[in-house]
Amino acid sequence: MTLEETIAKLVDANHILAQERVVDAFGHISVRHPERPDRFLLSCSRSPELVTPRDIMEFTLDGIPVDAAGRKPYFERFIHGAIFAIRPEVHSVVHNHSYDVIPFAVSKTPLRPVFHGAGNLGKSMPVWDIRTKFGATNMLVNDIDKGRDMATALGSNTVVLMRGHGCTVVGQTIEEAVLSSVYLQVNARLQTTAMQFGDVSYLHDDEIDVMQAARAAAPGNDRAWEYLLARSRR
Ligand code: MN
Repeated sequence: MTLEETIAKLVDANHILAQERVVDAFGHISVRHPERPDRFLLSCSRSPELVTPRDIMEFTLDGIPVDAAGRKPYFERFIHGAIFAIRPEVHSVVHNHSYDVIPFAVSKTPLRPVFHGAGNLGKSMPVWDIRTKFGATNMLVNDIDKGRDMATALGSNTVVLMRGHGCTVVGQTIEEAVLSSVYLQVNARLQTTAMQFGDVSYLHDDEIDVMQAARAAAPGNDRAWEYLLARSRR
């Protein structure tokens, strides 16, 4: 994709995440720069629903704006660069405070895939606690050291939950990061409902392996993106 096409898709992704209530006034999505793998693109500090191409800023992986042009960046831009720096195959990162997901970041109950749409989320969704290394903070990933610590907790996984805060989701494409974020929220709702009925049958590890091996070619990905995009434009 060209830079212009990448920015257009990133704007669409902002609008989809807002429509699905994965993000509200807060939360953001980035994409690795298509020509400069050592840089990434992310909106300035705006609610995702309102983001336009002119809001998209370019950053170094340390979170330094290349040309701010008067725009104010998100405090938590360091989440994105820190992950791009250690995960070369990741091309898009979503950070959000989904209210359905947070209960699993603050309790002892692991969040695990319960339905096929969430198989790509993987077998493990670790919880990162900012307090372990940084003590009492305002909970925000507002410098590169905190970003790197969170990225280390993410490791090779797709999702990292953030205690008292939210979560971060990665993908090899914008579409993959958006779909995983949407279906993470759906999975959290379904798991919460199922747990009220008693013991839950989660997806088995070998089933998750099958789905993750075929993730790029998963049937329905294009259909899901088209559906979500249409919903966001209504
Ligand atoms: Mn946040």
